[in-house]
Amino acid sequence: MYDAKVPITIFTGLRSFIMKCPYCSHTETQVVETRMSEEGDCIRRRRQCHHCEKRFTTYERAEVTFPTVIKKDGRRIDYSSDKLRASVGLALRKRPISIEQVDKAVSQIEEKLLNLGQREIPSAKIGELVMHELKKLDKVAYVRFASVYRSFEDVEEFSLLVNEVK
Ligand SMILES: [Zn+2]
Repeated sequence: MYDAKVPITIFTGLRSFIMKCPYCSHTETQVVETRMSEEGDCIRRRRQCHHCEKRFTTYERAEVTFPTVIKKDGRRIDYSSDKLRASVGLALRKRPISIEQVDKAVSQIEEKLLNLGQREIPSAKIGELVMHELKKLDKVAYVRFASVYRSFEDVEEFSLLVNEVK
């Protein structure tokens, strides 16, 4: 049972902090409603301040760390979700694919990326994951992405790829 005298404390790793009311900074707030987001990736809590009685919402989400990306030339860069979305979006430009489908493809790629459980990952591996998703989603986008991504040695290799998706 919730005890009104104990401020809500959220633990994130080793740090902990008290959930203060954003209106009056009072530290005693009560959760009035808890809900899982539709996608199931975050918990939404409605809270009410004991002092000013205003309500506010907090979102809890698991924090994840993506692996560092190793570029072809050996440079290490931070993983960027925006970049991934941009290159997937570019491959799918003017294709009959909804934003929801793009989002879904991007989250599936990221899920696989995280499940590899590696701290560093070659950019080529991300390219493979992208190709895998595009192949399921849209053959034209797949060929587009693959032709830019893999620098084909010869025409034969390219036509093999095109035949593969026919
Ligand atoms: Zn308050």
